[in-house]
Amino acid sequence: MTRPSPVIAGLLLRCPHCGKGKLFKSYLKVKDRCDVCSAKLGETDSGDAPMVFAILILGFAIVGAALFVELRYMPPYWLHAVLWLPSLAVGSWFLLPLLKSVFYAVNYHYDAGEDLTGRMQ
Ligand SMILES: [Zn+2]
Repeated sequence: MTRPSPVIAGLLLRCPHCGKGKLFKSYLKVKDRCDVCSAKLGETDSGDAPMVFAILILGFAIVGAALFVELRYMPPYWLHAVLWLPSLAVGSWFLLPLLKSVFYAVNYHYDAGEDLTGRMQ
């Protein structure tokens, strides 16, 4: 059995081993085992990378959009809060599982589990 591309499996929120089973059992909680191939999934961690990239991506997009709207239309500040705070919340809600799944699948693909961190080569 060939493993799926970690990026494709991650973008589809699927098991990085078979590419078919769902990765998450809740919003950001990874299943212990895949329902389809029974691969152990709970041992790999994606670390802080999904949050860092979500901050960078959303920060760039929302600050850029806010600057554009401010320079172009000069709306009152309350309108900025009404526009950008929900955009940030909704953007984070959709982006975090996607990024976590991609980083998890890449770590799984390259076998970068926590058990390798302390080993001497
Ligand atoms: Zn699987």
